[in-house]
Amino acid sequence: MLACNNLTIAHGDVVAVSGVNLQVGAGETVALIGANGAGKTTLLHTISGLNKARSGDIQLDGTSILRLSSDRRVALGIAQAPEGRRIFPGLTVEENLVVATANWKKIRQSCADDLDRVFQLFPRLKERRTQLGWSLSGGEQQMLAIGRALMARPRLLLLDEPSLGLAPRLAEEVYERVKVIASAGLTILVVEQNTVLALAVADRAYVLEAGRVVLDGSAAELRNDSRVREAYLGR
Ligand code: ATP
Repeated sequence: MLACNNLTIAHGDVVAVSGVNLQVGAGETVALIGANGAGKTTLLHTISGLNKARSGDIQLDGTSILRLSSDRRVALGIAQAPEGRRIFPGLTVEENLVVATANWKKIRQSCADDLDRVFQLFPRLKERRTQLGWSLSGGEQQMLAIGRALMARPRLLLLDEPSLGLAPRLAEEVYERVKVIASAGLTILVVEQNTVLALAVADRAYVLEAGRVVLDGSAAELRNDSRVREAYLGR
């Protein structure tokens, strides 16, 4: 479904991602792991259209999306839950969700079914539907960020460090939900520093170091790889 071909991305003079090749097949959950500053967020933002590539290509279903604006990419089915959640603090939970439906409102009036689906997945959001965004806990905000991305009816869900800043139990809870979303058939690319959680949910993974893919394989292979165990699993 998604292919990054020889992708290089720079912030001014700083080359953050260099010659990356990465594929995500329909229905797969793929993890992109790596340390702080490895280039994971830069890559994700370039897939969603928030950063520009310096060279290379990004294809969705075999067609280049590199020149499309991010809202066009959302319309094609790419939605991102950003690092740090970016919840609108002055909007209620429900408003934070509805705000993501702008792209398809022209073709369909009601988003009641979509709200129901998100509330089924995250019952706590339903309980808090009239609460303002700022009043939610970190875990609830993360669930809201994922729910908001789902409201855009994606075919490819991009998750940027869903465990960031969460207590271990809450991070596990978020990942349990990610597993449910994946098992329903949605294609997912998840960026994560928490390698244990990411490899538990992923089918395959890529390891990014200083902007380059240094390793890739099935999640099981990477869990048992001595380099991954030493550098990322603390074993
Ligand atoms: P983190 O887990 O901390 O988000 P990351 O793997 O997502 O790390 P990036 O945020 O993509 O890494 O950063 C990759 C490199 O690009 C780093 O060297 C970073 O300092 C640099 N960088 C990121 N954003 C910018 C920017 N807006 N301007 C200049 N340099 C940037």
